[in-house]
Amino acid sequence: MLDVQLIRKNFPVLGQMVYKKPLVYFDNGATTQKPKQVIETLTNLYAEQNSSVHRAVHYLSSQITERYEAARMVVKDFIHAEKMQEVIFTAGTTASINLLAFSFGEAFINPDDEILISEMEHHSNIVPWQLLAKRKGAKLKVIPINEMGELRMDKLEKLLNGKTKLLALTHVSNAIGTINPVKEIIQKAHAKNIPVLLDGAQAIQHGNVDVHDLDCDFYAFSGHKVYGPNGIGVLYGKEKWLEKMPPYQGGGDMISSVSFENTTFADLPLKFEAGTANYPAAIALAEGLNYVSSIGRSDIAVYEKKLLTYATEKFERIDGLKIYGNSPDKISTISFLLEGIHPQDIGLVLDKLGIAVRSGNHCAQPLMKSFGIEGTVRASLCFYNTEEEIDLLCEGLEKIKQMFA
Ligand code: PLP
Repeated sequence: MLDVQLIRKNFPVLGQMVYKKPLVYFDNGATTQKPKQVIETLTNLYAEQNSSVHRAVHYLSSQITERYEAARMVVKDFIHAEKMQEVIFTAGTTASINLLAFSFGEAFINPDDEILISEMEHHSNIVPWQLLAKRKGAKLKVIPINEMGELRMDKLEKLLNGKTKLLALTHVSNAIGTINPVKEIIQKAHAKNIPVLLDGAQAIQHGNVDVHDLDCDFYAFSGHKVYGPNGIGVLYGKEKWLEKMPPYQGGGDMISSVSFENTTFADLPLKFEAGTANYPAAIALAEGLNYVSSIGRSDIAVYEKKLLTYATEKFERIDGLKIYGNSPDKISTISFLLEGIHPQDIGLVLDKLGIAVRSGNHCAQPLMKSFGIEGTVRASLCFYNTEEEIDLLCEGLEKIKQMFA
């Protein structure tokens, strides 16, 4: 079992008071708080080791280069990639997906091709594909969901066809928490030679991610959603695809030689890392991932499942509360509405009680539309949250009901 009180001491932000109330942070789907290890790594790095990565022969630069490449190995092991060449540092999930949409799109998408996404995607896994489809005269196809907030597997079968060039799917829904049966889906797509990108922005903080076992072709995630710093993310790609894809951005670090007539490119992964890398964030991300591993990802998943069950049972006892997303396979994220009360009002009153939740469409407008609503309130819980905090949230919701009655 996790020692949650000890864990909480490691997250300085969590100890503070908000409007004279102890902060309850339930917005982990948007961004997670940072453990001391990550904060101290950043501070110490700037204080003692800062220097440009991959560039100079001097002491500081070679130390930073070593640490940057060691961070890549930590990521590789964390997601069970086979080779460090398959781990590209980006600015985050959005940057990873845009890289892929441009580069994969240049190499493999032609007029009338189809790119398949789902109804539960974050805007980051819709808009880059829409832009690509417009550029190339291709089509965007969408797997619908059922009323539980699960993918319609019967529709998926038909949508995967000879024209489909890529399936870009969220591993876990940020808005309603559904965990998609991605391994089974990847097998179905591969049976038709269709590569698969998983948007892992929400999956990465909630359990074991094994790209080798999943056999996905690409996997994208953000550092700030897995207890790491902002401004860093990862695009994992199988080497066989990355080798065939052209660079996304041109500049320093991604070249082998440059003349005015021609440029040859660096080997993987640097081919896709133009410009001075965000090495402090990459190094601090590795610290964040090591910290998560030290707690134990299976233990985290078990504890968060317990929190989810506790919260769901308590929510179900609140009259007029409706949960959106009822798949039995869910991360510890609960999206809900209170009858007759605008989600924004719920968020604002909860804030005054010291409770941070997200209200709105969660960058998933098409998903909200499919439920016939504009938005929800989302409580996204993680391993530093407690049952006592869930009790505070439920008391807050009862108060709000009385206020608006
Ligand atoms: N995809 C999903 C499922 C997300 O939840 C998010 C962020 O909320 C993103 C993509 C975009 O992540 P970022 O803003 O870190 O690039």
